[in-house]
Amino acid sequence: MSDSFKAVGGCRCDTNPVRYEYTARPAEVHYCLCTDCTDICGGAMAIIAVVDKQSFRITENADKLRTFHSKSTCHRHFCSACGCHLYVHVDSFADFELVHVPTLDRDQDVGGKPDRWVFVRSKHPLLTLPEDGLPRHQGWANSGEPVAA
Ligand SMILES: [Zn+2]
Ligand SMILES: [Zn+2]
Repeated sequence: MSDSFKAVGGCRCDTNPVRYEYTARPAEVHYCLCTDCTDICGGAMAIIAVVDKQSFRITENADKLRTFHSKSTCHRHFCSACGCHLYVHVDSFADFELVHVPTLDRDQDVGGKPDRWVFVRSKHPLLTLPEDGLPRHQGWANSGEPVAA
């Protein structure tokens, strides 16, 4: 879709923040409970927008970005000054960047709503999932049947 969609976000630096944008609606937005997301973010879940790589770009202060390989196939991009985790590239989703939705500016239209939970098998025991009726997948949504957790 090539409407005039655009969403912008960035890191938490007060001066010279890393800024990014994507200019097409995400292919998908999901809640991720994998330990790779949660342990690195220090949260019980991640909200991920799966954004076409062609529509995503860093618009300011790219020099502050650092990449950590939390797995050999999982490349996570952080601001080196404030520590904010902005987006992740996963080898199996080569054509996409996985944007951490809370790093979008709060007034932004994300471009989609979460429509599934993934990696439910890794859910932290202190987290109770809401009865939202969304499909819950043990791993990636395309790697198994939904489970009624
Ligand atoms: Zn920063
Ligand atoms: Zn994850």
